[in-house]
Amino acid sequence: MSDTIRDTVIIGSGCAGLTAAIYTARANLKPLVLEGHEPGGQLSITTLVENFPGWPEGIQGPQLIENMKLQATRFGAEFRMGHLASADLSKRPFALKIGSETIHTRTLIIASGASARWLGLPSEQALIGHGVSSCATCDGFFFSGREIAVVGGGDSAMEEALFLTRFAEKVTLLHRREQFRASRIMLDRAIAHPKIQFRANTIIEEVLGVEQKEVSGLRIRDIVTNEESTLPISGLFLGIGHIPNAKMFEGQIDLDEDGYIKTHDSVFTRVAGVYACGDVQDRRYRQAITAAGSGCMAALEVEKYLEEHGR
Ligand SMILES: Cc1cc2nc3c(=O)[nH]c(=O)nc-3n(C[C@H](O)[C@H](O)[C@H](O)COP(=O)(O)OP(=O)(O)OC[C@H]3O[C@@H](n4cnc5c(N)ncnc54)[C@H](O)[C@@H]3O)c2cc1C
Repeated sequence: MSDTIRDTVIIGSGCAGLTAAIYTARANLKPLVLEGHEPGGQLSITTLVENFPGWPEGIQGPQLIENMKLQATRFGAEFRMGHLASADLSKRPFALKIGSETIHTRTLIIASGASARWLGLPSEQALIGHGVSSCATCDGFFFSGREIAVVGGGDSAMEEALFLTRFAEKVTLLHRREQFRASRIMLDRAIAHPKIQFRANTIIEEVLGVEQKEVSGLRIRDIVTNEESTLPISGLFLGIGHIPNAKMFEGQIDLDEDGYIKTHDSVFTRVAGVYACGDVQDRRYRQAITAAGSGCMAALEVEKYLEEHGR
């Protein structure tokens, strides 16, 4: 156990956590950033980011993240590889369990993100950022005039498919079941759209194009007839939801029915001194800039809290 009590600890090194690190480090709070299972967060697994302000030609996701990390380090942020297993937020200072170590901190910024659900196929994983995406808002633009596929049967899949019709020539919606979970209204909208074609009872066996590092199609199977076929497409979007990384706070702060952290006034949780920012508390926008913006808010609240309650 360490005797030091930190002013602030940041859980997560995606754009929310790194922005919070830049602000708290610059305020001389010497933040400790826990990097977690995905150092750099979701942007570190993508390629070109064209909608983050300040980069007229776009910037590679990993480069954007590296820049933010350098900026935070320059002001004194400390980074540590490690995964928060559990936290005790009922006593002050708060106690954080990281492996065999316990870290104490006066304030906590939770920026642990929400991981997209993937199919888990090796070919899918190999092609993330090269035609496979879990974010239509982020990557739809790259598929203007192309044929693409969306996988899923709920409202997120319908929403993604409808949004993607703005760019794509044709959108094939693949679902492994006969019945769709989506609400009637979303389903009807998708069915009525001339660019969307439905394929129920269909699973993806393989994403094609691994050697060329660019999606060229899907090997799919009809689970009723067991027939295999190839669907030529240049993009695959996952619309099967996200898993918020907040389980370790269950029972200590409020989570909604899907496990997202409930915040009020942007970044406040129900425990004073504990703030949540980025995708772990935002199921609506899920963008790098909104995550960064709320990371800034959380950092400013930490500063205010420490001014009022002492360091
Ligand atoms: C393929 C893809 C492409 C995208 N493209 C764009 C784009 O072009 N433009 C755009 O604006 N947005 C894009 N996004 C969305 C954007 O990446 C997210 O909105 C953003 O990364 C959210 O930032 P975050 O910091 O909240 O969470 P994340 O980036 O998810 O980071 C979460 C961090 O928390 C850490 N963590 C999790 N659990 C723990 C734990 N128990 N202990 C310690 N650390 C933990 C993880 O290791 C990670 O470092 C894209 C997303 C994907 C998946």
